[in-house]
Amino acid sequence: MTELLLSHLEDCSTPQYFCFAIRCEECGEYWYSVTTPFTKANAAAENRSKKELYEALYQREKERARKAAGQEGKERFSLCPICHRLICDSCFLICEEMDMCRACAKRLKEDGEPVNR
Ligand SMILES: [Zn+2]
Ligand SMILES: [Zn+2]
Repeated sequence: MTELLLSHLEDCSTPQYFCFAIRCEECGEYWYSVTTPFTKANAAAENRSKKELYEALYQREKERARKAAGQEGKERFSLCPICHRLICDSCFLICEEMDMCRACAKRLKEDGEPVNR
């Protein structure tokens, strides 16, 4: 699940901070991870001569932020077992026999309550 989430993360990072987004494949709403500032943003802007060093630091912190965003997203998204799409908590229903997305529940005539209403 974490791997899948990581592959769905959209990079919204800037040179100053890291941020990632996931789009619900049912409602199309974007969820944004918490933004983490690049700790060396100011130093990197002032020390152009050390560009390569700061580039490497940036990539390292970004990878860390990406993993954290994946963890965070896991709390808010579910994989629908029927259509295999990534679904936000507002579109994911707790049904009697198997939890599934809103669209599948409608198609299969299953009743359920959203995880997050
Ligand atoms: Zn949704
Ligand atoms: Zn589904």
